[in-house]
Amino acid sequence: MTFNKTRLEKLQKKLSENKIDLAYISNFKTIQYLIGFGSDPFERTLALVLFADSEPFLFTPALEVEVAKSTGWPYKLIGYQDNQDSMKMIIDEIKSRNVSTNKFAIEQSHLTYDKATHLKENFEGSDFSFNLTPIIEYQKLIKEDDEIDKLIQAGKDADLAFEAGTHALMLGKSELQIAAELEYATKMRNVTEMSFATLIQTGSHAADPHGETSDRLLENNSLVLFDLGTVYEGYISDMSRTVALGKPTQHMKDIHAIVLEAQLAAQEAARPGITAAQLDNVARSVIEKAGYGEYFIHRLGHGVGMSEHEFPSIMEGNDLVLQPNMAFSIEPGIYIPNDLGVRIEDSVYITENGAIPFTNSSKELLIF
Ligand code: MN
Repeated sequence: MTFNKTRLEKLQKKLSENKIDLAYISNFKTIQYLIGFGSDPFERTLALVLFADSEPFLFTPALEVEVAKSTGWPYKLIGYQDNQDSMKMIIDEIKSRNVSTNKFAIEQSHLTYDKATHLKENFEGSDFSFNLTPIIEYQKLIKEDDEIDKLIQAGKDADLAFEAGTHALMLGKSELQIAAELEYATKMRNVTEMSFATLIQTGSHAADPHGETSDRLLENNSLVLFDLGTVYEGYISDMSRTVALGKPTQHMKDIHAIVLEAQLAAQEAARPGITAAQLDNVARSVIEKAGYGEYFIHRLGHGVGMSEHEFPSIMEGNDLVLQPNMAFSIEPGIYIPNDLGVRIEDSVYITENGAIPFTNSSKELLIF
């Protein structure tokens, strides 16, 4: 990725509106979003520091300096070796700017206690109560057009991954083996990574929406649930499909049809003006009317972007009004313990004329 000045400027504007003197940004995903460089530092230190009255600087492990430079980062870049005291170097750099440090913005749900303590001890009397996380989340909420383009490409890769997974379906194989073949075919197409471990669940195992892909063998005349995603230039796809292996029973077909009706109703209703809570209710009421409300045990969807843990959360109680270029999943499901599980999911983005899905694989009950 390359350096994108507009995102940093947008954030700087918010910071000045809130009279922030400096922002200490520690989450590598936030840094990646803001400047096009972000690499998980694990136990090492990565920080982006923004000032109201001075140029920003980026602080990385020495082994990341060249990659960070290659993104076109135009401001100061400091690398540190493992034997150096990273927090002391950051604090020294901040102090060398001779600017006001009264009001900090930090990512409160990310900055570790030891680093926060270090900062507090060195900037005694400064106010650390401002949480940057909601500001970042709201900035990420409305996707720029080039972000939508990347999400579209990630969706295309997910469609191909799903297709490869269905080709792998065969009695005698385990869920893990199907997932392995799906991921292998995907990576052979030079897709860098899956956005999460591919979920394959067969039969009653799919009734546990938080279960994991296991060594359980595929069962004849049963349903198989796929939940998968890919990453394209930092942007993720997330889709689910439920297919049949052998001959599905009428009950299986009925449940699948209800979930599909709920998914399509919500996708049709998703447009500017409707709230996240109302959209959740569109899908939920279809499932409730069919008599399966108690088996739809999670929210309708979540934001997608650089991760699947973004705003907006499509759920009861969220009165956020949908706007163009918001992107999120629509994934109703019915999970009947000891029986079956069905989930159908497309991630979509909102336009003036309605929602457009990133994934386009058939949602009918495919039979293999
Ligand atoms: Mn999802």
